[in-house]
This record gives sequence, structure tokens and C-alpha cells, in this order.
Amino acid sequence: MLARAQPSVSGGLPPALAAALEGLLGRRFTTSAADREHHGRGESYHAGLAPDAVCYAGTTEEVAAIVQLCAVHRTPIVPFGAGTSLEGHVTAVRGGVCIDLSRMNAVLSVRPEDLDATVQAGVTRQQLNSDLRDLGLFFPIDPGGESTIGGMAATRASGTNAVRYGTMRENVVSLTAVTAEGEIIRTTRRARKSSAGYDLTRLLIGSEGTLAIITEVTVRLYGIPEAISAAVCSFPSVSNAVDLVVAVIQSGIPVARVELLDNTTVRAVNLYSKLALNEAPTLFFEFHGSQAGVCEQAETVEVLAADFGALGFVAAADADSRNRLWKARHDTHYAVQALRPNAKLWSTDVCVPISALAPCIAQTQADIADASFPISMVGHVGDGNFHLGLLIDPSDPRELAEAAAINDRLVRRALELDGTCTGEHGVGSGKIKFMRLEHGPAVEMMRKVKQALDPLGILNPGKVLPED
Ligand SMILES: Cc1cc2nc3c(=O)[nH]c(=O)nc-3n(C[C@H](O)[C@H](O)[C@H](O)COP(=O)(O)OP(=O)(O)OC[C@H]3O[C@@H](n4cnc5c(N)ncnc54)[C@H](O)[C@@H]3O)c2cc1C
Repeated sequence: MLARAQPSVSGGLPPALAAALEGLLGRRFTTSAADREHHGRGESYHAGLAPDAVCYAGTTEEVAAIVQLCAVHRTPIVPFGAGTSLEGHVTAVRGGVCIDLSRMNAVLSVRPEDLDATVQAGVTRQQLNSDLRDLGLFFPIDPGGESTIGGMAATRASGTNAVRYGTMRENVVSLTAVTAEGEIIRTTRRARKSSAGYDLTRLLIGSEGTLAIITEVTVRLYGIPEAISAAVCSFPSVSNAVDLVVAVIQSGIPVARVELLDNTTVRAVNLYSKLALNEAPTLFFEFHGSQAGVCEQAETVEVLAADFGALGFVAAADADSRNRLWKARHDTHYAVQALRPNAKLWSTDVCVPISALAPCIAQTQADIADASFPISMVGHVGDGNFHLGLLIDPSDPRELAEAAAINDRLVRRALELDGTCTGEHGVGSGKIKFMRLEHGPAVEMMRKVKQALDPLGILNPGKVLPED
């Protein structure tokens, strides 16, 4: 049973608010324990805190009406997509109302001629891509979970394709959002470029539900490449693998994906996904382009890999083996979790400039070697981004303290190298303590933005910004 969220007033929501929300939504307003508990925790190791009620919104106008009612009662609001976030983003630290947008899941329009699509916030990337397949188009951003496009915009998510296609920051054209006053706005139009005014789209991307609630997202689309090929390549050490990646990126080879898995992760993947990869630090590559272009990229990387001591370079050109490989990569979270079944996976990520990746990973490996519990390392290394999965017993205070210290050292190391405390997972409540260290006085500017856009402080309070 989760800890009970602090109620907005004694005993939960103000009765007048509960009655008004029930009047608006009928059975899509609920205070059932199961619904509240589900919505009070993401996939993170953080303890959950349940909201007082959950509202399943169906339209932008309904979201606006819910926000207006909550604003009258000064009741906190936590937007919720699929709950796959990893840093305590959706915990209702002040109780209040969770607005679940997952039922707003219509693909509103696809415009192949403009290479864009507009979707409701609750559409998942998998759903969008299955709708697009027959048009020969795809949306490239692929965080591991079945996350919603609204949640992905709210966390500025990325994934394995970011090295070639960018992150949500580069791939959102425009947003429809509900402000803290319950007003509906569109951040910009669909033109690919605009110099007209402040960039509200980028302001809301990564704001984690603290500035507005995103209800529709217009995203960029890409043509499915004429040819795709993948390759797997193992190395005697993580540093050999990382040095190769740095060389590949610095030589401008347009790899679509390059992912690092350390020994622990490869062992986990072999067991979980029934693969037979060499249990050594391994890179998964994918190349997109014309038939000739893809062959040329793969050959160039293979030659470079030999210079960095590669133990083999195995191509996976057919779609089935490629899909199997990438499915295994996307399942690494669960594969690693299965290595210590009663443990909880504390997943943390940092990102550094590509030239700083090798020292950052080398120093981190020393921490991994000394840890008293298993730690896996995976990385979207082409972006300088890597993740640790710390498999801890959350009921053991010694393991929790050791994990916190490892996470702390990891973040400080990344910041010393001019990197960031999170490349893609976001701040939530878990990384708030690093915001001042990373941003210094710029945190005050962020605070002013928050104060201006959410003067009552009702939108996902206790997230992103330190309160002291
Ligand atoms: C196995 C696994 C692998 C992952 N791999 C990656 C990865 O490779 N890359 C990556 O970037 N992330 C990754 N993640 C993290 C997670 O999938 C992303 O953060 C994702 O973008 C969250 O989307 P969601 O719909 O689940 O959002 P939620 O978890 O529901 O919400 C996330 C945050 O956004 C806010 N929010 C949600 N919807 C809206 C909205 N419509 N308007 C305003 N605010 C909103 C919430 O209040 C919360 O603060 C992974 C997670 C798991 C479990």
C-alpha cells in the first residue's frame, strides 16, 4: 500500500471540487484506491505518493475545465501520460488531482506532404508508428517504455535514434496546451521555421507538467529509409567500445543508432531475450540510407572497429534479426531487473559532450566495480548519454545510501565535464537537488517563468525546481 498523499484539505479533495469534477466527468472521475495508487508512482525506484483523485480526460476542453475547477480550489494537478517516467515525476507530493491523458489517444491528422502529424497527447509512439507504416513514414523518438507522445514532450525524451534524428526538442513542431488558468493555447503554427515571438514550444518541452498541460502535439515525420542494416560488435573493454563511438561520431559517419551494453547488461539480455551474444562490452549499430550508403557506412565502421580491438562485427541485415536485436535493447530495463528479482532498479542517466564520454565512463566503471550490488551500464553513446541501472534492495538503508552516493558521484562527474545531470529521463523529484549545481543563478530565471505561468503553484508542484 502506498503512503497516503497529503490531502488538499483534511480527508481529500474539497467536497465542492469533487462534486464538480464528478458532474463534469461522471465515472471518469475516481477516488478508487487502485486508481490513485497506480497514478502515484511511475516506473521509478522513488516511493509513490497517491493523488486524492484521478480524472480521465477525453478532450482538450475537458482538461481546461478540470484545471479551471482546480484553480478555484487551489488544488494541485499532476498530468499523467503512461507513468513510465523514472525520477518520481508523477508522485503527488501535495496530493490533489491527477489528470490522466491516456484516453486522449486519437491520431488527428497525418500530412505526408508536410512530413508532420498532429496527435492527441495520449497517443503512444508505437500507436503512431503503426498508423504511419502504410504511408512509408515513421516517427523516430523511441524511449524504452510504451510512453505517450504528450509525456515524451513533457520530459523532452529521446532514445536510440536521437544520434541521427534528434530528441523531442527537435521533433515537435507545435503544441496545444492548457495553461494554469485553464486557457487553451497553441504554441505556434505548422511552418517549419518561425521568428515570431518567444519559443513557447521549446519552453513547454521538458517542463514536466509544471508550466502547462499538453493536449495535442504536432510532430515531425520521416520517410522510412530505403535500406536499413544493423550490426553487433563486441570489445575487450568498455573503453575500446567508447573510443570507437567517439571516432565514428567525430568522423561524421551518419549512424542512425549506436548503443553500448556492458558485460552485465549483455548477460541479462542473453538470459531475458534468449540471445547468444558474446558476454563482453558490446555496441549495437544501425545504419539508414540508400542501399549503397548503408553498405558504405557499415564497412567504414567495421574497418574503424578493427582499429579499436573489436572482437568481431556481425551484421544483422534482415528485418527479423534486426527487430529481435532492438527489441532486446528496449527490454534491457526488464532484463537487468530480472538478474535480481526482489531488487528494485534505480535507473539514472547523465549526458556529457562526446569528447568527455570516455573519461566519464572510465571513472564510472571504477564505481561499478566497487559496488556491493550489481550495476548495469547502457548508453545512447553516440549522444554522450549513458544510464546506470543500480539493482538495489530498497528496504536496505545501506544499499540505498550507497546507491545515492554512486548517483551523486556520477552526476558531479558529468557536471565537471560540462555535461548534465540528465540527458533524457528528466528531473522529476529525483534530480531536483542537482539543479542549482547544474544551472546556478539560471534557476532563479526558471523560477520566475514558473511564477509567471503558474502563479498559484498548482501544476505538478514539488518537481523540477528546488523550493528553497
Ligand atoms: C523501460 C524504460 C525505458 C526507458 N527508456 C527511455 C529512453 O530511452 N529515453 C527517454 O527519454 N526516456 C526513457 N524512459 C523514461 C520514460 O519512458 C520517458 O520519460 C517518457 O517520456 C515518459 O512518458 P509517459 O507518457 O510515461 O509520461 P509520464 O511518466 O506519465 O509523465 C512524465 C512527466 O510528464 C508529465 N506529463 C505527462 N503527460 C503530460 C502532458 N500531456 N502534459 C504535460 N505534462 C505531462 C507528468 O506530469 C510527469 O511529470 C524509459 C522508461 C522505462 C520504464
